[in-house]
Amino acid sequence: MATFQCDKCGATKETRCQPKKCDACGASACMIKQGEAKKGSGCGCGCKSKKK
Ligand SMILES: [Zn+2]
Repeated sequence: MATFQCDKCGATKETRCQPKKCDACGASACMIKQGEAKKGSGCGCGCKSKKK
C-alpha cells in the first residue's frame, strides 16, 4: 500500500494504485505519492564535496 496526497486540498488516500483523481476535491492528476522515501537522490544537505 502507498499513501497518496492531493496536491490541491491535501487529502490523503491509501491505495495500491495511483488515484486518477482526488476523492475529496475531485481534482485530477493531483495525487502525489507519499510515504516511500526517495532513494538515491543525494543526501539532501546540499553538499557537493566528496571525501577523498
Ligand atoms: Zn483534493
